[in-house]
Amino acid sequence: MESCSQKKRLKDKFKATKKELNIDPTLWEALAKNRPAWRRAVTKEAKTYEQQRLQAAKTKRAARKARHNCNPTPQATAPPWPCPLCNRDFRARIGLISHLRTH
Ligand SMILES: [Zn+2]
Repeated sequence: MESCSQKKRLKDKFKATKKELNIDPTLWEALAKNRPAWRRAVTKEAKTYEQQRLQAAKTKRAARKARHNCNPTPQATAPPWPCPLCNRDFRARIGLISHLRTH
């Protein structure tokens, strides 16, 4: 009894996620009949989906960071700006510009 309801729950979960998992609806039934292929497809699609989600989250996070980080730390602003006259490195372009005035 309990295992039966658990199976149903798992099925319901798949139903709910299959749209997100990007599986072709026409392939859905054929794949479901072929358990090994079905499992591979679900695993693969779930992985792809998770990777896409992670990538999207990373991109979003980077964009958010860039937007909020108006005054980034020197380490974050590569590359350094070397002075063409004395080769002194500057962490910010404005530092080089004001340094160039002293030459
Ligand atoms: Zn210089």
